[in-house]
Amino acid sequence: MSRRAGIGTLALLTLAVSGCAADPDAADEAPRRTHGRNGSGGFTVQYRTGGKDARATTYLRSRQVLEKAVDRLNDTVTVPRRIPLVVRSCGAAEPAYDPETGSIDFCVEHVGEVREHFEDTGKDVDGDERAARVTGVLTETAYHEGAHALIDTLGLHFTGREEDVADQFAAVMLVRQGRSGEDGALAAAADYALSAKENPADDTDLRDEHSLDGQRAANYACYVYGAHPARHRDLVRDGTLTEDRADGCPDEWKQAKKGWEMLLGSHLKKRL
Ligand SMILES: [Zn+2]
Repeated sequence: MSRRAGIGTLALLTLAVSGCAADPDAADEAPRRTHGRNGSGGFTVQYRTGGKDARATTYLRSRQVLEKAVDRLNDTVTVPRRIPLVVRSCGAAEPAYDPETGSIDFCVEHVGEVREHFEDTGKDVDGDERAARVTGVLTETAYHEGAHALIDTLGLHFTGREEDVADQFAAVMLVRQGRSGEDGALAAAADYALSAKENPADDTDLRDEHSLDGQRAANYACYVYGAHPARHRDLVRDGTLTEDRADGCPDEWKQAKKGWEMLLGSHLKKRL
């Protein structure tokens, strides 16, 4: 249920497979922040860091990263129960939906890793651009885990692998936000591409439930290109996408969007 597989202790972007279970005894940081609930159901945001990890928490709060993601989710889908997105220290960068608790653990360690990554690799861009990239990746994480929560909560059935289907939902949610969302999806693609470079796939990765990071990077780029080919021709020019793959991306995009519209059916408040 986690966002990605990533094995290796030295690489900056190492993220593990398993999720961290929510700690029911963790003290809420006052005031508890909730956003976008509709009736008794819907996604909410809770901060349970107990005053630790102040940098990550401040970053999230000041930019309202998760509150905005949750509002968009609640504007899009009707959910019959409350799904808390809990910002907490997990001990590792393993954001995950936990079907046992029905909540999403949004680990502050993940926030720190994504920020470090873009601080190290984004020296060619200004601070605002770097922050936009970080926000894009963190929003992608929220939507990816939100997809797992929707699949579990609404009992959705599909073919293919759940991790790929969750990535498709994240891509659709980002792209429908417009240019900032497209940039966010491309930031996620860049994040996965770098991870693939730093952590070459091995046998363990081939057996993992997630597609390889390099494949996930190409998929995100393909959905963005497929939604607006004329706008993103640079993805082909710079080799992010091959000509062959790019040719099929408009259809891949349509399939992902229509597929999720069909999956969500009557739970959908507006078309994707
Ligand atoms: Zn996942």
